[in-house]
Amino acid sequence: MYFSQMFLPTLREVPAEAEIMSHKWMLRAGIMRKLASGIYSFLPLGLRALRKVEQIVREEMDRAGAQELLMSALLPAESYRESGRWEVFGPEMFRLKDRNNRDFCLGPTHEEIFTETVKNSVRSYRSLPIILYQIQTKYRDEIRPRFGVMRSREFIMKDAYSFDRDEEALDISYKKMDEAYRRILDRLGLDYKVVEADSGAMGGSGSQEFMVISEIGEDEIAYCKACGYAANIEMASCPKLEHTATEEELPTEKIFTPNIHTISELAEFLDCAPTKMAKTLIFKADDELVAAMVRGDRELNEVKLKNVLGCTELEIADAESVGTATNAEVGFAGPIGLKIRIIADYEVAAGKNLIVGANETDHHLINVNMGRDFDTEVHDIRTIAEGDSCPRCGQAITLARGIEVGHIFKLGTKYSEQFKCNYIDESGDERPMVMGCYGIGINRLMASVIEQNNDEKGIIWPVEIAPYHVIIVPVNVLDETVMNIAHNMYEKLVESNVEVILDDRNERAGVKFNDADLIGIPIRINIGRKAAEGLVEFKPRNSSEAVTLPVDEAIEKILSQVKNH
Ligand code: ATP
Ligand code: MG
Repeated sequence: MYFSQMFLPTLREVPAEAEIMSHKWMLRAGIMRKLASGIYSFLPLGLRALRKVEQIVREEMDRAGAQELLMSALLPAESYRESGRWEVFGPEMFRLKDRNNRDFCLGPTHEEIFTETVKNSVRSYRSLPIILYQIQTKYRDEIRPRFGVMRSREFIMKDAYSFDRDEEALDISYKKMDEAYRRILDRLGLDYKVVEADSGAMGGSGSQEFMVISEIGEDEIAYCKACGYAANIEMASCPKLEHTATEEELPTEKIFTPNIHTISELAEFLDCAPTKMAKTLIFKADDELVAAMVRGDRELNEVKLKNVLGCTELEIADAESVGTATNAEVGFAGPIGLKIRIIADYEVAAGKNLIVGANETDHHLINVNMGRDFDTEVHDIRTIAEGDSCPRCGQAITLARGIEVGHIFKLGTKYSEQFKCNYIDESGDERPMVMGCYGIGINRLMASVIEQNNDEKGIIWPVEIAPYHVIIVPVNVLDETVMNIAHNMYEKLVESNVEVILDDRNERAGVKFNDADLIGIPIRINIGRKAAEGLVEFKPRNSSEAVTLPVDEAIEKILSQVKNH
């Protein structure tokens, strides 16, 4: 491709909305353009990279024995009504009506549709296992689209669904997908962790998320350097504590704590550590009010609490409900005398002489002890913290942030039972198929690669998915010798299937170098003063060193680097 003919609208200014590096570079380097909140057009350079990400995903799915198909994005409401997700998705689902007033949606994910498709076509155990996938556009009306295509309202997902005869067979399909996902992320050169994830919400029996390590990640992960344990922080379990404090239990006292609403205010007012306090948080779980207690310095983990309660909706109660439950303003809830269900964390159960709210405005109780003063259910409901013991080996836990690029999930028979997606086994019995679902975000993957591979000048594409492998930069396009070499190299490389840009613009070398760096082409060939001696400069985007080489050697070096991938 000749640069002068490319549709490559780069931007000089950083668009104000771009908060993270990948978003900024994707806009500046002419990868994509914003159309509306969370909606983007991919421009030629971006589309080339996107297609390569897709292709890697496709190759690894095919290698794992999955078969590609393509379903519509426009889907009839009935399937989602049948599964209950017409309601569950709520405002995140884009809904529309056809001319006959029938309800449709733009598919946010396709479990229902795949299940129905297989149901009508597969009867015998002999046809199983089946793994089907598609690479297709999904629609979700996210509350807060942000970070460009990291969280957009229209995005491309590879979604796969496996159908097996039993749990054991599902384990095999699941493992194949796990391996395929690792290979995809390895080929993209990403630094990532595979973490245990919460499967509560979808009622399955196991799930893993694939997290690209990044400061800007929305998820937090806990991992152990010693044994390799890794889990989403929503899931990572905290050690069960036995009563360890040997302190003598002191008599409870009520203390006047005027206008003290937070743990830090209380710690200052009473001059004691937050570890001595237990906070009591009031939640609305479906329609019931419940109280949850964690130590003052800890964070309550809503996912764990939700799983303990087995509820579908969990939200912090409003001031009025708190008033009803505690007879006090927000900030003074405590376990004693509370008439609602209370769940306490292990550390609260193990603590001695704790400070808690008195269920009376402007008052707290000191020296409160579980067992003596109140009794509750005890569960692990706090969020693990840096340095806590690893639930597997006991060594210190490290925390990191991650971008969830993929999610694999053992669904079990949830959808097959709902849709009667059954098969006939050897003895003629009808059984529900055991399913798994596997999603990976194509645009989010691409943005994650940029997030991990950029510098102050722009993108640094890995060769695997670079829109072009090489950019040839003749420093002076009016010099005949220079241009002869440039065209010659260009032709030879194109013949060898290397994807090349020839920067034929009559611009200053500095301008061209900056553009090449901005768009992140892995190899730059500078053709300048030494052209007369048949020498060119080979400059990798990811290094500051350029080497001078005879033309043929430069071509060979390019071929070896591009073909190695
Ligand atoms: P998140 O927690 O980030 O909202 P999710 O749990 O809703 O993700 P899944 O339903 O498991 O995501 O979708 C599978 C994959 O699709 C995700 O791992 C992610 O890569 C991608 N994905 C999901 N939502 C979006 C989005 N709004 N924009 C871009 N990619 C997305
Ligand atoms: Mg989501």
